[in-house]
Amino acid sequence: MARILVTGGTGYIGSHTVVELMQQGYDVIIVDNLSNSNQAVLDGIAAIVGTCPEFVQADCCDSAAMDDVFTRYSDIVSVIHFAASKAVNESVEQPLKYYRNNVMSLITVLETMRKHAITNIVFSSSCTVYGQPDAQYLPVDETAPLQKALSPYGNTKQINEDIIRDTVYADKSLRATILRYFNPIGAHPSALIGELPNGVPQNLLPYVTQTAIGLRAELKIFGNDYNTPDGSCIRDYIYVVDLAKAHVKAVQRMLSGDADEPVELFNLGTGCGLSVLEIVNTFMQVTGVKVPYQIVGRREGDIEQVWAKADKANHILGWKADTPIEQVLMSAWQWEKKLRSNN
Ligand code: UDP
Repeated sequence: MARILVTGGTGYIGSHTVVELMQQGYDVIIVDNLSNSNQAVLDGIAAIVGTCPEFVQADCCDSAAMDDVFTRYSDIVSVIHFAASKAVNESVEQPLKYYRNNVMSLITVLETMRKHAITNIVFSSSCTVYGQPDAQYLPVDETAPLQKALSPYGNTKQINEDIIRDTVYADKSLRATILRYFNPIGAHPSALIGELPNGVPQNLLPYVTQTAIGLRAELKIFGNDYNTPDGSCIRDYIYVVDLAKAHVKAVQRMLSGDADEPVELFNLGTGCGLSVLEIVNTFMQVTGVKVPYQIVGRREGDIEQVWAKADKANHILGWKADTPIEQVLMSAWQWEKKLRSNN
């Protein structure tokens, strides 16, 4: 069976994708420098799938290490490149760290792929490239204009998309699939893998679950004076397992030669926007656990509302994010409880 190199495979989305790949019969080699993840994630994957994926601890910016991986695993047929730094605030404070890690790692991966004649790559991009779309572009599809990034993190996604396009244009043997994620949430139904935020969570869901379990005193809801039905911001929250499955579809499409274009681009979202208050209230309803919260001022740089038009992925990839939000929120809660019971 074919082997997929998953960079960042011990991370949140990476680990869920590794599970889906292995369950579809792919062999996997994970390369991760463990800068924002934990090797114990491999045990979680092994407990779900029944076998442990191959793992190399290395930095994707390290050409020699990457060269060695491609040499040792000569059955690699595609790369899924997740490895990246992802904290928006940190990227504002340490832009060079983000440009180095995120841009250099992609360049190194592409260079090494070309050297070893590996022709397929899936790249993790983000809906952040759309910024706040004008009302006429909501829900956003893949043709909506991109906006200047608000953070170095967001900028690395735009730059990396361009690097991929230019590289594939110049090397006709290459194929790439760019996946623009909306807001991934939830955890594997086994509660054996999930999100492991570092320090105080910046994202909504881990903050909600940590407040529900008593680790944080209260959730701060950033603004209720937006131009939305209940005044709080709207996002497209997508179940991480649904998101992971889209990667398998993307790889299969490239490997079977079905791609229409050398670089294909897909939005990965549910097509449905939910407000912060809707998320918090639904979480409390399905779990029966109270989440103390306070409405505070807006968070700088926040986008008012964005959700996906995911028709292209639905039709062309034959994929749909259809796990009900209640189930997704419950999975996040089960994972939080599991995490705390271990500590
Ligand atoms: N949010 C919030 N309190 C928090 C974290 C997030 O009210 O502690 C809101 C945030 O303002 C945004 C939404 O939740 O409207 C999603 O935020 P997140 O950081 O998860 O995703 P992003 O803003 O990057 O889409």
